[in-house]
This record gives sequence, structure tokens and C-alpha cells, in this order.
Amino acid sequence: MTGRIHSIQSLGTVDGPGVRTVVFMQGCPLRCGYCHNPDTWDTEGGETIEAAEVFQKIRRFAPYFGEEGGITLSGGEVLLQPEFGTELFSLCKAEGLHTALDTSGCLWTEKIEALLSVTDLVLLDIKMTTDADYREYVGCPLEKPLFFLQKLEEKGIPVWIRHVVVPGLTDTAENIGRLHELLRGYSCIQKMEFLPFHKICMPKYEKLGLPFRFDCYPAATAALAEECRTRYESL
Ligand code: SF4
Repeated sequence: MTGRIHSIQSLGTVDGPGVRTVVFMQGCPLRCGYCHNPDTWDTEGGETIEAAEVFQKIRRFAPYFGEEGGITLSGGEVLLQPEFGTELFSLCKAEGLHTALDTSGCLWTEKIEALLSVTDLVLLDIKMTTDADYREYVGCPLEKPLFFLQKLEEKGIPVWIRHVVVPGLTDTAENIGRLHELLRGYSCIQKMEFLPFHKICMPKYEKLGLPFRFDCYPAATAALAEECRTRYESL
């Protein structure tokens, strides 16, 4: 089974627990205003590679994973290539490696369900908190990621929620309150990650000749993201 990948990060520490190899898939159906990987959007771009070949690369880094680490499939959007993900994760699990999926949760098919059967952890972006903002700034209805989250709850798959803090848009008390309302009651959610919006991706947009939609917003500090996390936890 071949897949289209953008790149492989040998050892990372920000996409799931412990030290991990991160495979960035090529192709995304969404257009998030703050996307820092616009070079992964094109479904015809990237490199075509066999899942078994990617597994052999990952395997070389396994000694560095320790107890917590493993592999994370990120993107782009992994859910566009569920069969590739299923084969790669199956190979990893046979070797006892922890598997994490970093996704927008915007799609749902039987093939995606098969991928989840070999997924240990989902890093799920809840990008906005109203349907209007989801449609405007992400490109899909809010109900899609919420449906995905409900499925994860039913399957008992652990979830880390990720929410990007954009000053003036998602850092408000109203937004954090709505986020809390949307997510309350899900026992599958193990962790909330508030990530500061940054603009270091701008040269990528310039190179691609694309406008950076969120250029109008200032970058967020780590302190602001922490403030949002504290506010969320106080609710
Ligand atoms: S889902 Fe991810 S890769 Fe796709 S546009 Fe949004 S931030 Fe970018």
C-alpha cells in the first residue's frame, strides 16, 4: 500500500507523549486560516512511498522512543489516506510501538474506522467553537469534528484536544467558555493543549504565492496560551 507523504521528522517531542517519529501526510481538504503547513494541502504533491518502507525508517528510531514515545501520523490530513495509515500502524503495533493520529476529525468512513482500530491515541483539533467560524475559517461544519469525537468516546480511544489560541479570535472568555461547553462530559479526553498561534509559516505562503489569511492577527505568546488553559480549567 502506497501513500503520499510530505516529510518525516525523525524525533519530535510536541506531537504526542514522549519522543516520537512524526510522519506528515500530503493532502488536506480543509483551509484553516492559521495553517502552518500550506505546502501539505496539494493532494497531488509530496512523495509516493510504501507503508512498509516508512515503517523500516521508523523502526530505526525505536530505541529513542522510551516507554512513552512512538509514531505520530500528522499532516496534511491523515484521514484522506486511511488505508495507508492502517497498514503502517498495524506494522507498528505488531512491533509494540505506540501509535498516535493528529487530525482535524473532518471525515468519517469505514476505512477510517479501521484505522482507529490500530490507533492508541488521537490528537484532535477543535479549531473554532461556533459553526459559523468553522465554516468561515476552517472549511467544514462544526458537527464533523464533534461527530468524530463522539465516535472516539464510543470506542474508548484516548484523546488529546488541541486548540490554537489566536489573539482577538479564540482567546476570549466567551470562546473558552464555549469550548468547555462543547467538550464537557467526554471521558475519552485526557488532556487539553492550548497552542499559541504563530506566523513563522509566512515564508511558505510567500513561496507558494498564497495569501496568509490570518496575517491580520498578532502572534500569541506562550503566556497567553497558558492563560487560556487556566481559564478553561477553572470552568
Ligand atoms: S487541517 Fe491542518 S493541514 Fe489542513 S488546513 Fe487545517 S491546519 Fe492546515
